[in-house]
Amino acid sequence: MDHDMKIIIGSGLAGPLLAIYLSQRGYPVQLYEKRPDLRVENIPVGRSINLALSHRGIKAIKSADVFDKIDPLLIPMKGRMVHLSSGDIEFQPYSIHPYEHINSVSRGELNKILMTKAEASGKVQIYFDHSLLEIDGDTNELVFENGNRAPVTDHVFGADGAGSVIRNYIDEKVLSPSCVDPLGHDYKELHIAPGKNGEFQLDSSALHIWPRGEFMLIALPNTDKSFTCTLFLPAEGKRSFESLGTPELITEFFHTYFEDVQPLLENFPNTFFDNPTGKLATVYTDEWQYNNQYCLIGDAAHAVVPFFGQGMNASFEDCEVLMQCLDEAQGNWEGVCKKYSSVRKSDCDAIAKMAIENYVEMRDLVSRKEFKQQKEIANILMERFPDRFIPRYNMVSFTSIPYSEVYRRGAIQKEIISKLDLKKPDLTAAESMIKEKLSPLV
Ligand SMILES: Cc1cc2nc3c(=O)[nH]c(=O)nc-3n(C[C@H](O)[C@H](O)[C@H](O)COP(=O)(O)OP(=O)(O)OC[C@H]3O[C@@H](n4cnc5c(N)ncnc54)[C@H](O)[C@@H]3O)c2cc1C
Repeated sequence: MDHDMKIIIGSGLAGPLLAIYLSQRGYPVQLYEKRPDLRVENIPVGRSINLALSHRGIKAIKSADVFDKIDPLLIPMKGRMVHLSSGDIEFQPYSIHPYEHINSVSRGELNKILMTKAEASGKVQIYFDHSLLEIDGDTNELVFENGNRAPVTDHVFGADGAGSVIRNYIDEKVLSPSCVDPLGHDYKELHIAPGKNGEFQLDSSALHIWPRGEFMLIALPNTDKSFTCTLFLPAEGKRSFESLGTPELITEFFHTYFEDVQPLLENFPNTFFDNPTGKLATVYTDEWQYNNQYCLIGDAAHAVVPFFGQGMNASFEDCEVLMQCLDEAQGNWEGVCKKYSSVRKSDCDAIAKMAIENYVEMRDLVSRKEFKQQKEIANILMERFPDRFIPRYNMVSFTSIPYSEVYRRGAIQKEIISKLDLKKPDLTAAESMIKEKLSPLV
């Protein structure tokens, strides 16, 4: 047994990226995954079919030297296409800079490319159909559902997602265990097939949103010219997954709230009942590591709700931060996991808050006049003071400014805008507030 052998549990998105990083630094890696190999068996990818990949995720993928394989899969989304209840459609660009956009990407394809790249290093061995059950503290072994066991000789990284077994293990050892806070809203994926001539049935350069106050539908494009739609709706209550229990009720609901999209949905309403209903929650974890040996990355440490499109991006950034801590320590692992978790925790707490806040923005505010005026002013201020004022969405999606700093600056920026007349903003007053309260960004 190689005593430098690193073990990673979970070969979803963060696990294989971390495996690549570790292999680049010369470490052998055993990666254990509960599912079969996606590249061999056609199995559901779990969670969402596609995701929004933005600056932070791209930067981390580039460090793994695998972006050239992923780039052709990306579909740029330059803004939100807001489908109002009135039937009107409004395009809201994400940025004043045409080169700033987010990208729709297939979860499955991304996962496959990362796993193949990890294996190509010759240092990473992926064990599929290995669902970790527990850690046997007496024998110091990982115990898998299939009966196999593996000795723990070195670091173990929990990249096993929101229901992490490694997090449960750490929870048993620490004073302040993690907690899971359900959002109370669930989600359901639906599908818009390509049109008769194989074309996209909606504009493919945007993320589509049907904001309806308490709930919303969104759609992201896929490379086969289809769209994956996701309905986010309260789990219980008057208009909820619980209350829409029959084909007639769900058809009527879509007819009332999403009339323009309903005819485009494939095999509707059957798919509504065939597809699973997903749960949404935030995972709050105080202790991301134990004994500088067991360490959490990605959703295992900080699952967030998906409304800022940052869960995967943040998980990839975790891997980069962990490696920065290791590189700064010149490969001396002592204290690395501790340092990584102390550096990273406040940032992930911040993105968790912003993700919840963004649900309200997406499902409600985007259709309001005041929100659009505030956005216009924010764009003017960004244009005039690019070194100090960047709208919060843009700091999150198009920069690597730490999320906690984004949160802090975002609150100041919001306050500055709240002091301006939305119809006729006094830019001189704005300038003095900006210079006083926002330090230049480096
Ligand atoms: C509806 C929805 C939409 C989303 N959209 C976006 C988006 O647009 N942009 C974005 O950045 N993020 C998005 N996210 C968040 C993103 O999916 C997660 O943040 C990301 O998948 C986290 O990666 P991970 O590797 O930490 O966990 P996961 O991707 O969940 O991977 C965990 C892996 O561990 C395996 N595993 C679990 N338990 C065990 C076990 N006991 N033993 C062995 N293996 C195990 C699982 O099979 C899986 O392969 C979205 C999430 C949802 C639910």
